[in-house]
Amino acid sequence: MSDGTLISKARVLGQRAADRHLRLGVTGISGAGKTAFLTSLIRLLTQPQQSLPFFHVMQQQRYLGGVCIDNQQIQRARFPFEQNWQQLTNGQWPSSTTGLSQITLQLRYIPEHPLRRKLFSHQHLTLEITDYPGEWLLDLPMLAQDFQSWSRSCWQLFDSPELAAHCRPFRAQLAAAPASPEPLQLQQLASAYADMLTQLKSQQLAILLQPGRLLRPAELAGSPLLQLFPLLPEQLPQPSALKHQLEKHFKAYQQKVIEPFYRDYFAGLDRQIIMADCLGALNRGHQALGQLQQALMLIMQHFSYGRSHWWRRLWQPRIDKVLFVASKADLLTPDQHRNLLLLLQQMLQQPLYQQKYQQCQTEALAVAAVISAEVGTVQSRDGAKPCLRGRLSTTGELQTIYPGEVPISMPSEALFQHHQFAFPEFLPWLSDAQPQPASLRMDQALEFLLGDHLQ
Ligand code: GDP
Repeated sequence: MSDGTLISKARVLGQRAADRHLRLGVTGISGAGKTAFLTSLIRLLTQPQQSLPFFHVMQQQRYLGGVCIDNQQIQRARFPFEQNWQQLTNGQWPSSTTGLSQITLQLRYIPEHPLRRKLFSHQHLTLEITDYPGEWLLDLPMLAQDFQSWSRSCWQLFDSPELAAHCRPFRAQLAAAPASPEPLQLQQLASAYADMLTQLKSQQLAILLQPGRLLRPAELAGSPLLQLFPLLPEQLPQPSALKHQLEKHFKAYQQKVIEPFYRDYFAGLDRQIIMADCLGALNRGHQALGQLQQALMLIMQHFSYGRSHWWRRLWQPRIDKVLFVASKADLLTPDQHRNLLLLLQQMLQQPLYQQKYQQCQTEALAVAAVISAEVGTVQSRDGAKPCLRGRLSTTGELQTIYPGEVPISMPSEALFQHHQFAFPEFLPWLSDAQPQPASLRMDQALEFLLGDHLQ
């Protein structure tokens, strides 16, 4: 073998060793904007057309491009990027996340450091992205419970004054259930419980609705693993076939659903994006906003790095960066973007400054993955006022509106009694001047998430 061949072989081997791998997770409660965010992020990395000034690798013209490659685990659902992008370019929103899906990208870039550049003409970053419903993270506390303590904590919530009336029919059905139900009766009780959870969720009455898979079953739809509901506290002391059966299902749910999710997916993530639709919650009212905050706090427990966390001993997650995204910022006039960010930070109770999050770098951004309105001005008696023009999601009709202001801190219940927030729902904005969907502040998100791995 000639010296030249040896040198080039050594270079290829060296390059492979220097290539990097990063696993990114995207989560948030349904409707938060995960699908749109991920679709936009993949498009920007594979066919960047928009200028991305804060994404340094592109700004420094070191980015050579990205392609989608096969997932390492081909049996796992692939994130349908191509279909989603096509829907966006047709001016429609893609279908939302219902289960877990993955997609892998290979990014090529020129190293920043002159010495590395001498060694390698370019390098690769393999980016594995996992999209999953935030509802699944809300099951974590169940791992520290047994069936009895779980049942008690569920009914403490369901019997609370805000929920009791909605939960009464299921309570009555459960109280009348036979101690040894037939399989069909068990199935009927399980589906009545799932209906109750769906109703509580759709009316934004509660967030900690377990098991989370009843709301987002994905591949478990129809599985006996989901025949799981809490018994009434008064039913717990007596042994019964029903109790025995539910205890078995509870254990199976812990071992076959919750644990594998953390072990196989969550524990392997390096970085996490958590999305929150604060504007949607403001529209729905005080309770919805409180529910969103509670969900964020529960999700954030996964990233608090205190040594005392029992679940850390089980999985040792290695997430080093968490990005909190207030989604749909395009539904505001630009002067309100800062308020949206401040509101999100307030809802998170400023984890950026809390000791327990310090091992994990956090950032919060107000982002529009897909812009749905153009910004303009209207003349009013007080002079020019900013406004938005977009096509209403319901009718497709063009509308010019002033969407209003965002409070910079959690608004009180009293405020909602005399003020109704009404942020619009528009379709993706396309026009002769803007033939492809565009985004806002995705470059800052990309820089935070990937910048240090593309140096
Ligand atoms: P998911 O359930 O978290 O996957 O949420 P989606 O990404 O499917 O978003 C839910 C809905 O929110 C979409 O159908 C859109 O109506 C809206 N949406 C999502 N992202 C954006 C955005 O960047 N801007 C605007 N204006 N609306 C968005």
